[in-house]
Amino acid sequence: MLGTGAAFVDPDRAQSGILITLDNGRHYLLDCGAGITRNMVRANVSPADVSAVFLTHLHHDHCCDFPLFVITGWMWDREDSPVVIGPRGTEHFVRSLFEGGAFKADFEARSYYPRRQSNIAAVRPKVIECAPGIAYQDEHVRIVCDWVEHIPRQLSECFGIRFEAEGKSVAFSGDTAPCESMVKLAADADLLIHECTFPESFIEHRKKTGVGIFAHTSPTELGIIAARARVKRLLPTHFGHFDTTYALMKRVATHHFPVDQMGPHLMDEVVRDIRKNYSGPMQLATDLLRLDI
Ligand SMILES: [Zn+2]
Repeated sequence: MLGTGAAFVDPDRAQSGILITLDNGRHYLLDCGAGITRNMVRANVSPADVSAVFLTHLHHDHCCDFPLFVITGWMWDREDSPVVIGPRGTEHFVRSLFEGGAFKADFEARSYYPRRQSNIAAVRPKVIECAPGIAYQDEHVRIVCDWVEHIPRQLSECFGIRFEAEGKSVAFSGDTAPCESMVKLAADADLLIHECTFPESFIEHRKKTGVGIFAHTSPTELGIIAARARVKRLLPTHFGHFDTTYALMKRVATHHFPVDQMGPHLMDEVVRDIRKNYSGPMQLATDLLRLDI
C-alpha cells in the first residue's frame, strides 16, 4: 500500500496508490495520488520498473503524482513507454503534461541531454482509455473494470477493477458509494481493497451540514459488500483523515468534519461497523503495508 489517504495532504498517509508485484517481479500500479512515488522508492521499487498504471478516476488524490512517476522513470533510465489505463479524459490529462504541456520547460531542459534523448519513450506514455470489460491484458495479468458510483458519469467516469494474475485476484474499488458492480468485480476475490473514507458518525455530520455531495462507502456498507462478494480478505483504505492527531489537519477540517471527534480511536468504530456484516480476515490499510497473497 503506497498511499492510503484521501483528498487532503496528510502527514500520516500518502494519497491513493497500490503497487502489485507478481512472483516474477513485474510491477503494476493502481492509482497515483500525491506521495506514492516517494513511498514506492521507500518500498525499494523504481518507477522505471512499473509496467502499467491504472487510474481509477481523475480526481487529484488518484492521479496527481503521475507526472513525478513518469519523469522519475525517465531519469532512472526506463527504456520503454509506461502504459497508463484510465477513464475518458486520461488521454487529455497525459498529453497536457510533458512535451508542450505543463512540464514543457522540464521536458525541454532534460531532453537536451543525449542520455535522456535516447530513452525519450519513457516520457511518452501509451494511453488506454478503457470501457467496462477487459481494460488491459498482457501475458502476465488481466485487468477487468466496471463503472462505480462516485461522481455523475457525465462529469467524470470512475472505475472499480478486478486484477487477475498467477491464479489470484485482487479487486479495488477506487472511490465509490456501495454498488453492485463492485460486488461483481470482487466476487470470491483473494483480496478486496475497498475505500472506506469516513466512519458512520462523520457521514451523518456531512449529510447534516451539506458537505461532500460525492459518494463514498460507509463501514457498515463495506461489511455488507465484502460478505456478499465472499472475499477471502478485506483491506479497507482511502481513509479521509478522520484519524489524524495533527492540529493543522483538525483546523483545516473545520468545515468538513466534526473536528472534536477526530483521532485514531475512530478506527475502532470503523472496525466495529464493518464487523456487523463481515467476519473474514481483515486489516486496515496503512502506508507501506505489505500483504503477500
Ligand atoms: Zn479519492
